Amino acid sequence: MGNNGDGWHTPAVEALRAGPRNQVVDLDTNGTPGFDGDKEFGTKLIEERGSVLSDLQEMLFANGRLGDERSVLLVLQGMDTAGKGGMVRNVIGHVDPQGVDHTAFGVPTPEEKRHHYLWRIHKALPRDGQLGVFDRSHYEDVLVARVRQLVPESVWRRRYDEINRFERDIADSGTTIVKVAMFVSLDEQKERLAERLERRDKHWKYNPSDVDERALWPEYQQAYQDMLDKTNTDHAPWYVVPCDRKWYSRLAVMELLIDAFERLDLDWPEANFDIEAEKKRLAES
Ligand code: ATP
Repeated sequence: MGNNGDGWHTPAVEALRAGPRNQVVDLDTNGTPGFDGDKEFGTKLIEERGSVLSDLQEMLFANGRLGDERSVLLVLQGMDTAGKGGMVRNVIGHVDPQGVDHTAFGVPTPEEKRHHYLWRIHKALPRDGQLGVFDRSHYEDVLVARVRQLVPESVWRRRYDEINRFERDIADSGTTIVKVAMFVSLDEQKERLAERLERRDKHWKYNPSDVDERALWPEYQQAYQDMLDKTNTDHAPWYVVPCDRKWYSRLAVMELLIDAFERLDLDWPEANFDIEAEKKRLAES
């Protein structure tokens, strides 16, 4: 296998990091960068690694309860059908929901529109000890806002720097940020949309405007590429994840998250009571 037996010959953080090697137009969305195991092995690994993630998240939560101000934020950005919902269910679904601050960002509400675009993002940042998950994010304001010309170019252009500063502040206050850009091919997207039309249980997911967005794919590709180029910082790195194979994309994001948690060097918090004395009290109770 050319790896340590875990299927990865190159760690996901290296194989997927945005950069010249991972350009949007050239991306093999059916690929499995860094991983040379098959679907069966990958699917099994998701379960195994899910319990590792679960323990790490519980440790962060436990420390948060005792005053540790750190948190982790996963940002998921991707075109329709890229699998953001499934990612949340299958990766984040491994951890205790009480430790997760999840927010899906749709079209801004009238109230949100009256505020700066980062207002709603700020309000949704993870609390201390929490794993925050953004299903779409402030990046919509340099993606759909740009492609659909919701604001003039002079406005969206200055947002990249603004977002970098915003994320710098978040990182400085103890949040480890992991940003994931999810890509499917246009053919795979077509199949997934067709399935939504075929199946009664999926009709609710179908949005006629998704077909209009397909026609704008080159514009979106450019917008995604600029986003990656301009906001791929060390304090808030982007990872480019091929998503035609759902099992791979889920395994990859699992690994990216585990890496982020491991870098926190967490341990179970020390008891803030006398253990022996408590054992004695309990036995006598
Ligand atoms: P999804 O496709 O993520 O499952 P959905 O189709 O159910 O979502 P919503 O979650 O209600 O729809 O909203 C997603 C839509 O909101 C997307 O089309 C997205 O481009 C749009 N959107 C999100 N943020 C913004 C924004 N800041 N400005 C304009 N449109 C936005």
